[in-house]
Amino acid sequence: MKLNNHDTFNKELPADKILENTRRQVLDACFSFVEPKKTANPQLLHVSQEMLEAIGLTPEDATSKKFLNIFTGNEIIEDSHPYAMCYGGHQFGNWAGQLGDGRAINLTEVIHNNQRWAIQLKGAGETPYSRTADGLAVLRSSIREYLCSEAMFHLGVPTTRALSLSLSGDKVLRDVLYNGNPAHEKGAIVSRLAPSFIRFGNFEILAARKQHLILQELVDYTIKHFYPEITSTGKQKYLDFLTEIRNRTIEMIVHWQRVGFVHGVMNTDNMSALGLTIDYGPYGWLEGYDLGWTPNTTDNQHKRYRYGNQSQIGLWNLFKLANALYPIIEEVEPLQKILDAYSNIYNEESLQMMKSKIGLFSEDKNDKELIGRLEETLQLTETDMTIFFRNLSNVSSKDSFDTAFKKIEISFYTLSEVQEEIKNHWRDWFNRYLKRLELETFADSDRKQKMDLINPKYVFRNYMAQLAIDDADKGDYKLINELYLLFKNPYSEQPENEKWFAKRPEWARHKVGCSMLSCSS
Ligand code: AMP
Ligand code: MG
Repeated sequence: MKLNNHDTFNKELPADKILENTRRQVLDACFSFVEPKKTANPQLLHVSQEMLEAIGLTPEDATSKKFLNIFTGNEIIEDSHPYAMCYGGHQFGNWAGQLGDGRAINLTEVIHNNQRWAIQLKGAGETPYSRTADGLAVLRSSIREYLCSEAMFHLGVPTTRALSLSLSGDKVLRDVLYNGNPAHEKGAIVSRLAPSFIRFGNFEILAARKQHLILQELVDYTIKHFYPEITSTGKQKYLDFLTEIRNRTIEMIVHWQRVGFVHGVMNTDNMSALGLTIDYGPYGWLEGYDLGWTPNTTDNQHKRYRYGNQSQIGLWNLFKLANALYPIIEEVEPLQKILDAYSNIYNEESLQMMKSKIGLFSEDKNDKELIGRLEETLQLTETDMTIFFRNLSNVSSKDSFDTAFKKIEISFYTLSEVQEEIKNHWRDWFNRYLKRLELETFADSDRKQKMDLINPKYVFRNYMAQLAIDDADKGDYKLINELYLLFKNPYSEQPENEKWFAKRPEWARHKVGCSMLSCSS
């Protein structure tokens, strides 16, 4: 088993001079060298064949002792120097100071097929950034990250990827509900990959500490390796950098809205500098279409990170990034201009995305209003987002209201609630929509084909994750593989998997892990 590793982050940027793995403020550095904790009795539960290939390994490699050892922290890759990154962040709106990789350790960077992949172990033990926590991860949160990041990729959403899911063999103590009842759970390790795991917070911590030279080094490094399209120099280079991150962030969030993904903890330390979805924690998927929904119980009071607020938070976070970049630009106006453009760009991309979800590919001045009305109507009763949009592609411009309505009525959680007044809202909306469809040049079948590539048939519903977790707790890992395979083709009809194209079952409505999740993972 040979990896073509070629480190840059830990070679080109300043390292923490202290080598002891003690918890502390790490000054004058972008990272600290630290090795993963040895695990007692590791066991591989799943390996992504796709990601194996992506880093130049074969299925046989994945069966070797060496693979198990490396991806559970018991062996170091030759010529590698594992490290944890130093970053800070704004959590729930407040500056939190130094955070850093408290339970993620970067093993190395691999180049294969001209693509760079940084490889991290999540849950591989404490680092100088672990603060008061243990550096470990539990099986439930690891299953959720492993499956969700791969599902997101196949849904076409920019994301970090996952290579392997393992049990560490060690026990981890967690208080799931923060109610003073901690219990031991199975420890696990996910190996995850991305071109880089740099976050907004990596820049913020350096700016907060007034380490402007290192800040500039880190920005230059990021542009050089991950924004090769930026060719300008001087201050313009850094402005172009912010512009590009703004664009990538918008693109990512528009995709989240399209598939109904709610990140749950959009703190600036969880915002990738590459515009990737990163750090799958208490995320969730919309079942009922509800702009006010958040899966994160820690955020229940203010619902800062609710579905309908993700784009606003994207902008808020970019403000913090712009503040962090200010010392190497020293001009407010051009920064402000980049941020001022955010809302228009977002609104335009969001409108195009929503139009494509309902199969409108030509221009009409009333489309925005039509979509606004749809969003309102969807929220009058609990209506399953995924099923509604998927089934909408079966509607024909020649349908009567009754025929069209029949095609989507399965998406209502309680059909009997959709009477009189609410039904009239739907009648009004469908009558406008059916008329609008007549302006489209695509035949019904062509429109359906296009819509079905935008509206997924299968998403990682919260209860599906919980079923896989409950089985895994009992030592049965089959569902992990079943879901992994299901999500490889989320836009295809998979008749054998029709059971996953269903509304959330009633038992999952208030169950912990299904609709309620906390940061304690
Ligand atoms: P999050 O918002 O969950 O991504 O994490 C916020 C910060 O807490 C990051 O610096 C994490 O590395 C750190 N963190 C979260 N869980 C743990 C843990 N079990 N041990 C050490 N650090 C952790
Ligand atoms: Mg995080």
